[in-house]
Amino acid sequence: MKREPLEARIDWALNFCREKGMRRTHALRQILRVLFKLDRPIGWANLAREPALADSCDPSSIFRILVKLEEIGLVRRVGSPERSYYFMLNLPGEHHEHIICRECGKIENLAMECPVEKLEKKVTAKTGYGDVYHELDFFGVCPDCQTSA
Ligand SMILES: [Zn+2]
Ligand SMILES: [Zn+2]
Repeated sequence: MKREPLEARIDWALNFCREKGMRRTHALRQILRVLFKLDRPIGWANLAREPALADSCDPSSIFRILVKLEEIGLVRRVGSPERSYYFMLNLPGEHHEHIICRECGKIENLAMECPVEKLEKKVTAKTGYGDVYHELDFFGVCPDCQTSA
């Protein structure tokens, strides 16, 4: 998916949701808007505190919508199992590698070229699978947690 203006990206996502049987609610639109704007993984609690959502949507319906978005494949969950999960958009042809702090659970996009794109093509060629994708997360201890240790 090309980098289109925010509104076009949100419309595309809303249409995708409707095709998958989701209702186009105000909450759904706002959640998508925040996720597209942020363009990085965010925890459910932090998402619920976003100004765009805090006033109009209650946290439990936000969580229900996130789970539904995950079911239809538009959102994926990242994070270490013992920490709270982060949610992020999962868009066709668009992905980031992540680095995840084992101490505080923070997740950041890696500002790097994808290191395994060639490998992905090889896997496609070798296995004959279609729609091949990968998820690649790195784990470590973030600079903040290193200084507070
Ligand atoms: Zn940390
Ligand atoms: Zn990659």
